Amino acid sequence: MRALSLVLPLLLLLTTACNSQTKVANGEADTTTTTTVESQALSYRYAPPATPGVVEPIDTTEAYWREILSPQAYEVLREDGTERSFTSPLNDEKRPGVFACAACGLPLFASSTKFNSGTGWPSFYEPIDPAYIKEDEDFRYGMRRVEVSCARCDGHQGHVFPDGPDPTGLRYCINGVSLNFVPQADLK
Ligand SMILES: [Zn+2]
Repeated sequence: MRALSLVLPLLLLLTTACNSQTKVANGEADTTTTTTVESQALSYRYAPPATPGVVEPIDTTEAYWREILSPQAYEVLREDGTERSFTSPLNDEKRPGVFACAACGLPLFASSTKFNSGTGWPSFYEPIDPAYIKEDEDFRYGMRRVEVSCARCDGHQGHVFPDGPDPTGLRYCINGVSLNFVPQADLK
């Protein structure tokens, strides 16, 4: 019951956001409720946008994130933390599917763009859609880096570096705790 009571407020929030977006988009009844209701059966959050490529930002409280996230996920997603390298089970996740934001469920990276960077963090050469991530300059620790966050919930994901493989030459170095893997079979 605890897990359900934690997930429901987010689902309701997403449903509200998606519904209003759908109405603006096409003036018809929403089609997202089905997806959202089905998602309640999943043990993770998976909530693609109602309109592909269009992200409706979530504005909620830090108290809410503290309630629904594990302490480690909160530290990384909401306080720009970094998990220890080689600790995420997602490093070895090679099945087809997508990697969704662990906070809000927005699908961020596809398994087809994942590669073994040898860094100990899940690495991708591009996001599913540039509109799904936010990139900001980060000058902490005396380095210039580009921080990557979820465009919907502003959750910290990791950084992007210009030393990745073809076809983009980019390396999105992402904290595994910031992601949930959604197998292809569970994708709607
Ligand atoms: Zn998110």
